[in-house]
Amino acid sequence: MNPACRLAAVALALVGLEGTARPQDVDLTIPPYSGAYEPQGVDERGLWMEVDEAERQFRDSTHVLKDERLTQWLGEVLCRTVGDDRCASARIYVVRDASFNAAMAPNGLMLVHTGLLARLTSESELATILGHEFAHFERRHTLNQFKKIRASTDLMAWFGLAGAAARVDMTSVQNSLIAGIFSYSREQEMEADKLGAAYAKASPYRLNASAVWKRVIEEDNARREARGLRKRRHKYSGWLDSHPAEAERQEYLAELEAKVGDEGDPGVEAYREAIAPVLPMLLDELLRRNDFGGVDYILRSRGELAGWSGPLLYAQGELYRQRGNPRDLVTAREFFTQSMNYPDAPAESWRGLGLCAIRLGDREAGREALAEYIRRAPDAQDVGMMKLLVEGTGDQTK
Ligand SMILES: [Zn+2]
Repeated sequence: MNPACRLAAVALALVGLEGTARPQDVDLTIPPYSGAYEPQGVDERGLWMEVDEAERQFRDSTHVLKDERLTQWLGEVLCRTVGDDRCASARIYVVRDASFNAAMAPNGLMLVHTGLLARLTSESELATILGHEFAHFERRHTLNQFKKIRASTDLMAWFGLAGAAARVDMTSVQNSLIAGIFSYSREQEMEADKLGAAYAKASPYRLNASAVWKRVIEEDNARREARGLRKRRHKYSGWLDSHPAEAERQEYLAELEAKVGDEGDPGVEAYREAIAPVLPMLLDELLRRNDFGGVDYILRSRGELAGWSGPLLYAQGELYRQRGNPRDLVTAREFFTQSMNYPDAPAESWRGLGLCAIRLGDREAGREALAEYIRRAPDAQDVGMMKLLVEGTGDQTK
């Protein structure tokens, strides 16, 4: 489900699905697990040592989110998805990176990006993605990839990508470094999808993969639309045309889901509870992306699918306030006001409302909202500045 998988999916669509088993013919029994793969021979043992050393450096880096509760929950979801014997082979790290990404190394290290958590809305979606990545690991696709990486480039680039990717949005999957490292074959992608579906079928979760791909397509469409409107010279032939691979994959996975049935737990409520403590941070990362269209889509779809909340409506307001067109300020003000109806509304909603009101010329309302912000967040870093604004605005109204 990393950029790799998307790239391979391009290949998959280009060749078409002829000659492969249709979903109704797919056997979804899980093969016996032979345990974590042990490196064979001098080359593989050397590779393992390098990956282990890279992991030691990586786990102390600031890119890794050290949140024990969150990491433990991810491990529990993985264990419920692939079973206790399999999940014992994996070590999960949460990477602070707003891109939609997850990956696994052949020594059992699994990366889950915060951008993935920000976009998913249920444990069943998370289970599908973790299962897909684990399937690449179990089938040793990752081993073959790392052998290629080792021969061609610096192994640390694989980890370095996690940090660098903060500046690489989803539309940059053509990035040659990513392409070189993460290009699974069409057969490998289908194998991982199939084994991932088998895990899901045997797990308490519902197989829930196609919805994720649908949103990947829609997010990219929203991003292109927003950028296209800004840059008239940029021509797009048509959105569906630009996503043949993802569309094909979504359709294939939807057929698989129909075959498996709809009996498992979607896990929407459990996901919302697990994510709630870090949601403000996840949303803040998205807001720093300078990606109005994509982030607007992510926030709206999250609200519709998983329910609105104070932090989510605040983030919507901030997104519009930061773009700052006059109409955006009106919209932002509405979002901030709505967020205040929720018990978990952040103090920053009052700051946002105040700043919008002042810029819209409603100084008295602005002053009141900023004063309320200061009352709710007396220790915030920008309180001094806001006090000046309250006083300055007061002077202007005199
Ligand atoms: Zn994949």
